[in-house]
Amino acid sequence: MPKGTFRFYEELNDFLPKHRRKTAFEAEFKGKRSIKDMIEALGVPHTEIDLILVNGKSVDFNYILQNGDRVSVYPVFESLNITDVTLLRKIPLRRHKYIADINLGDIVKYMRVLGFDLYYDSLLSTREIIEISKRENRVILTKSRKLLKFKDVTHGIFIRPGTTTEQIRRIIDYLDIKDNIKPFSRCLRCNTLLKSVLKEKILDRIPPKTKEFCDEYVQCQSCDKIYWKGTHFINMKKVVRQILYQLES
Ligand SMILES: [Zn+2]
Repeated sequence: MPKGTFRFYEELNDFLPKHRRKTAFEAEFKGKRSIKDMIEALGVPHTEIDLILVNGKSVDFNYILQNGDRVSVYPVFESLNITDVTLLRKIPLRRHKYIADINLGDIVKYMRVLGFDLYYDSLLSTREIIEISKRENRVILTKSRKLLKFKDVTHGIFIRPGTTTEQIRRIIDYLDIKDNIKPFSRCLRCNTLLKSVLKEKILDRIPPKTKEFCDEYVQCQSCDKIYWKGTHFINMKKVVRQILYQLES
């Protein structure tokens, strides 16, 4: 059977079994096999890949593997000089809007706390998530490798296990979106931007004790929810500080 030698770089190794990580290994393939199929069969979703070199030359996903090929596979944002090679996508990967797969819980909350535009609806089907991602140019955040392997998924991030702060830090590092952080600018419930509102206008909606100590309020433009700097805010601020601290260290 024909075979090729494969080497995956950086975080792509997380998708491989231990004995194949950070080392070149041989794998056999049957008949005419595209490089995209082969890489996914080895366990790596194509959405994580930005560059493939075969025998030192860049190829696209449709390349048909030949016996003896030496294949190097690089992730999105692996820093190396790629000016002379074919990128796999025409559109830049740096999108600034996101859609979360279901079951991402705290990640959704804290991405929004940090001000990121993150679409989330626990009732969406996988198909609907992919459609919205395409229509609104949103990067999909998911814990499902299966979802990332759908043909028409072009921009997606696999969320690896870890604490919420670790996971968010990885997303921010990976997409290089640290400069887009605007804490407490977005509604946690519906993702809309918040605007300051005069205390007098919402007096009847503030608990009596809060009225005494707080003069600054913001309101969601869409769902009307009011936010102020109470205990809840202080707890969230701690988490935000943790995330930012890890980004700097
Ligand atoms: Zn809202």
